[in-house]
Amino acid sequence: MSEQVDVFEKGQVVALEQVLDNREWRVAKQAQLEARFPKATVVAVKVNMPGAVKNSATIQQIFQAGWQLFLAELATWEIQQVQVFASRPTGPEGFVVVAGDLADVKKKAIAFEEHFYMGRLFDIDTMAAQSPDYQLSRQDLGFDPRTCLVCEENAKECAKAKRHDLAEIQAAVNKIYNEYFVIDPIIPAWDQETVKKAATFACLAEAVTTPKPGLVDPVSTGAHQDMDVYSFLDSALALEPYFGLCLDAGRHFRGSQLTSLLMAIRPSGRRAEEAMFLATGGVNTHKGTIFTLGILIAAYGYASRNQQSPSLSFVQSVVSQMGKDLLSKELPEKVQGGADRGQGGLTAGEEQYREYQLTGVRGEVAGGFAVLGRVGLKTLRESTGSRNVRLLNTLMALAKSITDSTLIKRAGSPEITAELANWVAHFDDLGGAETEAGLAYLKDLDKDFIERNLSMGGAADYLVLTAFLGRLTGLL
Ligand SMILES: [Zn+2]
Repeated sequence: MSEQVDVFEKGQVVALEQVLDNREWRVAKQAQLEARFPKATVVAVKVNMPGAVKNSATIQQIFQAGWQLFLAELATWEIQQVQVFASRPTGPEGFVVVAGDLADVKKKAIAFEEHFYMGRLFDIDTMAAQSPDYQLSRQDLGFDPRTCLVCEENAKECAKAKRHDLAEIQAAVNKIYNEYFVIDPIIPAWDQETVKKAATFACLAEAVTTPKPGLVDPVSTGAHQDMDVYSFLDSALALEPYFGLCLDAGRHFRGSQLTSLLMAIRPSGRRAEEAMFLATGGVNTHKGTIFTLGILIAAYGYASRNQQSPSLSFVQSVVSQMGKDLLSKELPEKVQGGADRGQGGLTAGEEQYREYQLTGVRGEVAGGFAVLGRVGLKTLRESTGSRNVRLLNTLMALAKSITDSTLIKRAGSPEITAELANWVAHFDDLGGAETEAGLAYLKDLDKDFIERNLSMGGAADYLVLTAFLGRLTGLL
């Protein structure tokens, strides 16, 4: 699907001395925390990178993905202190102080190392000043020793006997990274609270990303007269309970036809629309998101039931099965029925299906949100810079990859799609949102969009979906 990434390619090289100095720094850090929190358990988290490259943008992605998941798992206890040092040349590290029993916390850490897809790349130490054990090992708790990344034998023995050369071990790390992030991204099975927050975060992240051509952001209301960024904040917060309902519907679904799962969340979707209108004073901020994100969350819920961590392609196949009847039955019937009712009986999407055979958002669902992985998550992963920059690049990449029924409706013709492709190509030529020129171009585009009353609402919806999965996988 995608070309493979070399985790070590763009990293900084460190000397052995730096690694040794860093070990002292870590021990001092732990001692400090133990002295400050004598009754708690101190947890030190780092990733194990073979060779002289210990940190890079991709190594930080690995760390962030696992760190967030592990923090969420520790939240069963009171968390008293969190410190993160993501960009240390010797590798990202984090410290957590939890009010939990040493052995219980250590068991959590071992479970994380075993169950998280990239857990084998992590090294988690737990210490408690008060405990007679002070520091427990896996063996103390009756667990098997850690296995080698390359051959699955005892890792310590492999290291001692120098059984594998550096290239071999780095290749094993690369394999894990590519399997998790690149080839077919793997999405951990998160708890309901985290999923709800990730969905709300995704809506808020889309709203605050600036400057978005024609769309509402904190600086401009784009080509919209009846709303501003606060409408989106109100609306996003009002939708949080709905996201939880969609997840539950998926996790508890026991039917055999996934089209029934779509039917099952539709009443909640209608109530979510009412909540949105109530929160915004009657303005449509998130109708598309309610439909698409609701389906994605339910599909993810279904795919992650029984605590499995599904691949993106599995979630997408669930989306597609849920939406199977949208194109074959619902859209033709609606268009037929709407046409019978005369003018005004059809939505923009239905009108465009009748006029141009464009299938719009229903087509995207039936296709399993095809561009989500190969365009959305890929661009988010490959873009460097601030989250704003990465989300802008992702928005523009999505814009050229989908058929945006909001944009076509406002432009009055599908020919706008070709025009948009040219704008995005120019944006890419300028170096994207990382460059001053790219950012300036987005501001110019915003003016053009406002003048022509254009808005790429479909791409914005897709950005929300991407941000949601980016959050769950640890990319955002
Ligand atoms: Zn080995």
